[in-house]
Amino acid sequence: MKITEHLAQAKGTLFSFEILPPLKGQSLKELLEGIAPLMEFNPPFVDVTYHREEYIFKKHPNGLLEKVSTKKRPGTVGICAALMNRFDVDAVPHVLCGGFTKEETENLLIDLDFIGVENVLALRGDAPKAERFAAEPNGHSFASQLVEQIVSMNAGKYLHEETEPSFQTDFCVGVAGYPEKHFEAPSLKFDLKYLKEKVDRGASYIVTQMFFDNQKYFDYVAKVREAGIEVPIIPGIKPITALNQITTLPRTFFLDFPDDLTDALEKCSTNAQVKEVGIAWAIQQCKELVKAQVPSLHFYTMSKADATLRVAKEVF
Ligand code: FAD
Repeated sequence: MKITEHLAQAKGTLFSFEILPPLKGQSLKELLEGIAPLMEFNPPFVDVTYHREEYIFKKHPNGLLEKVSTKKRPGTVGICAALMNRFDVDAVPHVLCGGFTKEETENLLIDLDFIGVENVLALRGDAPKAERFAAEPNGHSFASQLVEQIVSMNAGKYLHEETEPSFQTDFCVGVAGYPEKHFEAPSLKFDLKYLKEKVDRGASYIVTQMFFDNQKYFDYVAKVREAGIEVPIIPGIKPITALNQITTLPRTFFLDFPDDLTDALEKCSTNAQVKEVGIAWAIQQCKELVKAQVPSLHFYTMSKADATLRVAKEVF
């Protein structure tokens, strides 16, 4: 079923979450068993992230270095199939511009359609470490162009096809939104202009980057509506679970912690203490968001279910 249909039929705020594929060489069994307890909260959909290739330098016995490309977390398509097989959920693969030509994207979308995927989250993707984002030759530079390609396939239009009409896919397309602005955008107004472009080209819903101050989400929703964007805006929630996240989350995702949260985290000296503060914070955030009738609470689990499980038990 489409995400938009799940949202339209919901009697209240839904529960959904995102997982990461396991690192290359690890089995999927542990991940699937780990998230099984979350199924108690009837998630209608589960997102699976996509991770582009990275370049590493392999040293040969003669001392020469060879630049090779490797994927640390392959398997997004296979995990989607496994999720749909094992649990009664819709799997939502993330589809990226970065690292893909348009032809490769088309082939990926054909595979996804054939395994029964009905929803995709269309993203530009981040640049490989310490580089600026660059599209592949004959790839997309922005998520809006990827949305356009997916919507074209929904209309039966494939690349380099002379004979039309072809089989029409029927993907529901989601896109990303940033309550604290995308880090490359010079202003929120600029960012919203291009968010609107994604929606105008056919995106049906928005999932936000994580945030820790609900007021930022509420202000963002108001500005998105002012910009003439009407689609559902699903808030992204991340319970903080480890000491290092106090610095890595703001640095990686370009966001601020509110003062109250920072004060509470500053008093912690162990991962266990941070996790208690993080879970308590996420619970009060989620309760307020449910009261505000948000469409779904979408948890960034990082494939570790226990913190999300504790929050969900208090909220649903
Ligand atoms: P876009 O919408 O293309 O925007 C990128 C930047 O370009 C913005 O600053 C925007 O304002 C600007 N812009 C857009 N269009 C134009 C234009 N026409 N001209 C000029 N400027 C423009 N990354 C992964 O690698 N894998 C994942 O699985 C993944 N999942 C994510 C899930 C969510 C919910 C979110 C919020 C992010 C996720 N990301 C993921 C990270 C995402 O790929 C990065 O944040 C990326 O830098 C931007 O992606 P986007 O789709 O928002 O890009």
